[in-house]
Parts: sequence; C-alpha cells; structure tokens
Amino acid sequence: MSIQDNLNEIKQQIKDIADNCNRNSEDVNLIAVSKRQEINNIKQALSTGHLKFGENQIQEAGLKWLELKKDYNNVTLHMIGHLQSNKVKEAVALFDVIETLDSEKLAKALAKEQIKQDKELEYFIQVNTGEEDQKYGIKVKELDDFLSFCQNEQKLNITGLMSIPPESDLSSYHFALLSKLAKRCKLDRISMGMSGDFEQAILFGSTNIRLGTSIFGKRDKV
Ligand SMILES: *Cc1c(COP(=O)(O)O)cnc(C)c1O
Repeated sequence: MSIQDNLNEIKQQIKDIADNCNRNSEDVNLIAVSKRQEINNIKQALSTGHLKFGENQIQEAGLKWLELKKDYNNVTLHMIGHLQSNKVKEAVALFDVIETLDSEKLAKALAKEQIKQDKELEYFIQVNTGEEDQKYGIKVKELDDFLSFCQNEQKLNITGLMSIPPESDLSSYHFALLSKLAKRCKLDRISMGMSGDFEQAILFGSTNIRLGTSIFGKRDKV
C-alpha cells in the first residue's frame, strides 16, 4: 500500500474508533512522525494535504523541513524528541509545537528565545509516567509545580501533556494516568499513542496520536 493509502486508512480508523467511544474524531490529531524517512516519502504524505508532522531530532528536522516548509508553509511541525537547552534557537525557529518540555532550564531558555524571535510556540509537558530513571520527563509528583513555573513565571503557552510509556509496560495504565493528570491540570491536549497502541490511546482520551511506522513503513535505523 502507498503512503497515501495508509494515511486514508488510518484516518478512517481514527473516525471509527472515535465514533465507538463517543468522541469527535476532529479532536484526535494525527501527527505523522517523519523521522528518518526520505524526503520523497514525506512529500507523498504532504501531497494528500496532511499538515501535521513530528520529528525527534533537531538537526535532522532542520535539514528536511527548512526546505519543505518553504513549499508547504501551513505545515505544523511538532518536536517529539528530547530537546537540549543549547538548541532552542533552532527549535523555536523551526517548530510550532514542542511536546517534550521537560526541565526548568529548558523552559527558561525557550521563554527567552521566544522573545528574541518574537514567536510564540505551543508546548506540552512530557511526563515520565513510568518513573523511569533513564527517561526524560517530569515526575508525576513534580508536575503541578513545574506547570506553574512554566505558566506563571515563564509565560509559556502550555496546552497539554505528553508521555512515552515504557516498552515493557501495558500502555493503557500510562494512558489512564496521563489523562487523569491532564484533567487535573485543566489542560485540553494529551499526546499519547503510537503505531502499536493508538486505538487504546484514543479510548483513553488522546488528542495527539504520533504515528510513524503505520504511515510510512519501517524507517532507517539510527
Ligand atoms: C518514533 C516515535 C513515534 C512513532 O513511533 P511508531 O511506532 O513508528 O508509530 C512516536 N512518538 C515518539 C516520541 C517517537 O519518537
């Protein structure tokens, strides 16, 4: 099947799943994860009119999207990988949404850079729902303080929460937790669900599913 066919099929699936759980399918945004995909594959997705894409690596994203965004200037680009605070200049210039806000240092750097570039992005806080030591993300018990720091002190436009469940766990536990936290924080958007578990994620209230493999097929190894 072509990338165009995959996208059409997935969009139909999203509609069906949303219908089944009484949600409006327009509240479920499909982020096409184009990391480590060839430009031609990305262009095929763009040719269908799809406008929401995700990348996890700033340098690679720049190489591909600085050019592509010239021709497709209404694309919304989501950063879904860890962002180092010394890369905020490139990140603010290139991305529209950063889903991986995960430290005070990064929040401060982004707030400063936004003023410099006179550009306001949308942010999700990445939550380490698995409490894994080696994973990025804010710990659940530190979320309220971090949110308040970002909103009140740094004036960042925080619209949602994001999580990447540990591979060894049942994702539904993490989806339920992230959903509950978003409600408690009064944030509308919830980024969770990948190719293998997006149906569950939609059932648990996801508003941003991040799909790579199911749209583009297997990608190059790192
Ligand atoms: C790569 C990636 C995805 C997409 O994963 P697939 O299994 O290919 O759908 C989603 N989210 C994040 C954070 C990723 O890094």
